[in-house]
Amino acid sequence: MTAEPVLGRINVMKPWLGEEEARALAEVVASGWLAQGPKVKEFEAGFSAAMEVRHAVAASSCTTALHLALVVAGIGTGDDVVVPSLSFIAAPNAVTYVGARPVFCDVEPATGNATAETIRAALTMDTRAVIVVDQGGVPVDLDPIRELCDRHGITVIEDAACAVGSQYKGRPVGTGADVTVWSFHPGKILTTGEGGMLTTHRADWAARARTLREHSRSVSAADHHRSSLLASLQSPPEVYVEIGFDYRMTDLQAAVGIVQLGRLAQVVNRRREIAARYVAGLAGLRGLRFISDPPYGTTNFQSFWLEVLPAFATDREGLMACLAAAGISAQRGIMAAHRQPAYRWRDTGNAGLLNTERLSDRTLILPVFHELDDEEMNRVIVSIRAAAGEVGA
Ligand SMILES: *Cc1c(COP(=O)(O)O)cnc(C)c1O
Repeated sequence: MTAEPVLGRINVMKPWLGEEEARALAEVVASGWLAQGPKVKEFEAGFSAAMEVRHAVAASSCTTALHLALVVAGIGTGDDVVVPSLSFIAAPNAVTYVGARPVFCDVEPATGNATAETIRAALTMDTRAVIVVDQGGVPVDLDPIRELCDRHGITVIEDAACAVGSQYKGRPVGTGADVTVWSFHPGKILTTGEGGMLTTHRADWAARARTLREHSRSVSAADHHRSSLLASLQSPPEVYVEIGFDYRMTDLQAAVGIVQLGRLAQVVNRRREIAARYVAGLAGLRGLRFISDPPYGTTNFQSFWLEVLPAFATDREGLMACLAAAGISAQRGIMAAHRQPAYRWRDTGNAGLLNTERLSDRTLILPVFHELDDEEMNRVIVSIRAAAGEVGA
């Protein structure tokens, strides 16, 4: 009797971390400066260069960076902000934090992203900003949205939480928005454990975000420390210029981020390779539609999602059950915020969100992470082929 081979569980996502990150952390610990300081500054400089944008301001998460973005853009009570429902709930939440109203817009089925048309349908007399999302890493078609918003004096905020390493018309995503926010949560492409970034071309917005993230203190704690060391003089009393927040990133996180940023090209290439392997391995199956590069850009495949169409042998839940039986965690596709209890009873001014609901019901996300190996990829492919009813799969 031979024992069944024990197959490990395949996660949908796993961060790629190594010795270098551990060494970077050890250096910060040895330095004794753990809070926001020189490493955060270095990470910001590296990130703004890599994303081809003038200013980068690190934050404690993408959600707090979104909150800062809305504050510096001057959004508040009485304002409407258009945001796709088909996304993580952080964006409408941040709109609510500043006292504005999120108005949900629909998305196009091909990319799962908002378009100029779906946004136009959601505009109101009070729309002051739009939050566009590069959903799952797929770049949003920003130029037509930019044109629409410029015509109406509407600020464009890009939620690129998932999209570091994705490109729009040959450049990093985010460069065309007024302000862009990024996430370094472990479920994203680069991680600092928790963490976020705000990027903008506007010096005044960057400066205000920098102050706001640190209690709106006139002198940052790091600069205060440095100047008192140098001058050993009484420095002037700090002033709190407006009501701020504590949204700082730590130097521990930034040190990991610097190493991770150096791995970006490698990580994106590997994810694109894995996605291509899935597409090749699942070729010929009826009733599955895979997310792919849009005509105007490239995705980092932060989420490799597929839509289970009625022509497939089973529905999304059936396919997920088959995968689960083979020890594979897939994830139900992207959420629809307007269906959550938090928003169900609010006046969010929605029109029909038909594509949003369809994609949210029919999509699932397959495992993609740097160290996914051939055996694991084959297991995913064989399980889906079996769910499709292929004999011997
Ligand atoms: C993950 C995610 C966020 C939140 O990021 P945090 O860093 O965890 O706050 C926001 N928006 C989108 C689209 C996301 O995917």
